[in-house]
Formats: sequence, C-alpha cells, structure tokens
Amino acid sequence: MVTVEQVMDALRHVMDPEIHRNIVDLGMVREVAVDGADVKVTIALTVPNCPLQDTIAQDAARAVDALAEGLQVNIVLDAMTPEEKDRLMAKLRAERKTQPQQSLAGSMNKVKAVVAVMSGKGGVGKSTAAALLAAGLRRNGLRIGVLDADITGPSIPKLFGVHEAPVMGPLGIVPPNTGGGIKIMSINLLLPNDDDAVIWRGPLIAGAIKQFWNDVFWGDLDVLIVDLPPGTSDAALTVMQSLPVNGVVIVTSPQELADMVVRKAAKMAAQLEIPIFGIIENMSYVICPHCGERHEIFGKGRTAEMASAFDTRFLGRLGLDSELTRLSDAGEVEAYAHPDVEHVVDQVKAVLG
Ligand code: ADP
Repeated sequence: MVTVEQVMDALRHVMDPEIHRNIVDLGMVREVAVDGADVKVTIALTVPNCPLQDTIAQDAARAVDALAEGLQVNIVLDAMTPEEKDRLMAKLRAERKTQPQQSLAGSMNKVKAVVAVMSGKGGVGKSTAAALLAAGLRRNGLRIGVLDADITGPSIPKLFGVHEAPVMGPLGIVPPNTGGGIKIMSINLLLPNDDDAVIWRGPLIAGAIKQFWNDVFWGDLDVLIVDLPPGTSDAALTVMQSLPVNGVVIVTSPQELADMVVRKAAKMAAQLEIPIFGIIENMSYVICPHCGERHEIFGKGRTAEMASAFDTRFLGRLGLDSELTRLSDAGEVEAYAHPDVEHVVDQVKAVLG
C-alpha cells in the first residue's frame, strides 16, 4: 500500500518542536518497516522521556496515516544511542560552523528577554517572587525558564517540586520541566543531595552561571527569570555581568531599609547599563489563615513613593500568606493563585511589552 520511501517523505513534514528541524534530517527516524497495511516507525528521541515526545509521536502518526486509507500505524519511541547523538551533534555543528569548544545549545537558544530578580538581603521572598512571576507568566501562555543563580542557597527546584537531574542531550544540558511546563536549571539539581552545601567563590560561581546560560538547551523562551543571589553586592553583580540581562525586578519587604536597597540596586544597574523594571513589595500585609481577611500590620508601605523617587515602577504588593508558605514547602508554588500575583504579573508583562 505504501513504500518505505513514501513513509520517510511523509515524516519529513514532522518537526521537532524544539530544534525546529524535521525528524528525518535530525536522524531521529531509526527504522521504518512496512508489512502490507502495517507500518512501524521507530523514532529515537534526543533525550529519553523528552517532554515533547507525545507531540512528536502524534504528528508522526498523523503524517503516515494520511498516506493511505486503512493503514495500521505503530509509532515506537526510543532514546538515541550515544552514536546517534554523536552523529546528530556532528551534523548540527558542521551546519552551524560551531567551534569545537563552543556549545551547540548556546548557538541555538532563542531567549527573548532575561529578567533578573534581586533583593537587598536574604529572606525577603526573592525566590518566592521569582517563582510566582514565572508561574504567572507561564499561565499567560508564555514560554518560561528559571535560572537559579542563587548558587549558595538554591531554592527554585524545591519551590517547584522538581528533583530529577538534568540529562545531557546532543545539544547540551536539558533542563527539567515543572508540572506547569517551566524549564528550570539550578545547581541543586546537579548535587548528589538536595541539602549539600555549595561553598564557592566568585569566579567559580560566575563559571557555573555562564554554563547555565551557554550549555543549557533552553530552546525558545519568551522570558528567562534569573533568581539572583541575595544582596546587592559582589555575588549579584558577578551574575549580572555573566548574563545578557534585560532588566531587574527588585523585591523588598516593609521591614527592611528598602530605600537603601533600591539605591544600591539602582547604582549597580546604572553601572551595568541595565534598567530597573520595578519593585515588588513582598510580605506587605498579612492574610489571616483563619478568616482570610487582610491585615495591614505594616501600614501602607512606602514602596510606591519610593519607586517614583527612583524613577521606576511599583509593580505591586504581595501578602504574607500561610497558604503560599504551605504550597512552597510542598513544591507546589505553581498552584498558588491570588489577584495580587496576577496584578504583579500583568505589570511585568506590560514592562516587557
Ligand atoms: P529569599 O529568596 O529572599 O531568601 P524566600 O523566597 O526563600 O526568600 O522566602 C523566605 C521564606 O519566606 C520562605 O520560607 C518562603 O516560603 C517564605 N515567604 C516568602 N514570601 C512569602 C509570602 N508572601 N507569604 C508567605 N511566606 C512567604
């Protein structure tokens, strides 16, 4: 009914959604067997259990199905062998004329905007705000990654409940996906134990961050959120210098000397010629765990005034909410929903255009 060549031709219309090339050219079609109306196609994925495997399998089945009526199409998925990966890598390198020391991922990633999240000190909710921002932007349909640059206190994987180690694909390190489809990369995912301490100095940290940027296959992202190390001194500066950051979001809390934090952050940003997108006031008010009522125990924060004094935007307030703490501890930060989060997300979206 159909020939192997016809099946191969049909499969040339099936694209790998991340590499944007057809699966035949990528060497992913390992075998096509035709026996009467039975067509068996074996597809070798670039990484095992690739999150897009179902899309690829469905597209392949549809393409072959359309060749003739009454076909019994069987798509078998497998992972590429090291030899298949090497072949693909060599082919892509040759096409892109990549130097042997240059990573393929770095030359193929398309990240539209990099947003760094900064705070004056630890514990004000910088990572929480970064995670909520990522989750909110993702809910808006954007393609999001989170790079955990808080090397000595990484908390992003825990917030999202991701524990699987990244795998090495032919194009680079493949970041794991959260339940909501956010790609994340953190030193925590590479440590044998989640709670191992990382005691590194500046240059080593900068090296790791550069690798998280260059050697990770982020693919196409609308926004990469970078969770910076706490503070406005060296560690944060090192990271900002290692990445093409488009703008900074500052997280403050009503208890801290926010003026000083923002002044320092503004100075750093000016030095690096990176704009400050705005300020989020976290732990602005308390939500009663019993009745859900909002208590303005710190009064109205001064963040809005301060933002305008520094000629930047007030992106909104987030309350101290035990439900958020609970979800964060359970690795389900993506499930947190609150109108104030949506407001902050809308503001950031507006800044990003
Ligand atoms: P940072 O990144 O600034 O060090 P984290 O985001 O790790 O701070 O937050 C510190 C702690 O405070 C965490 O236990 C977190 O769950 C909690 N936390 C932060 N913001 C809130 C909030 N708005 N409501 C409830 N708990 C919060």
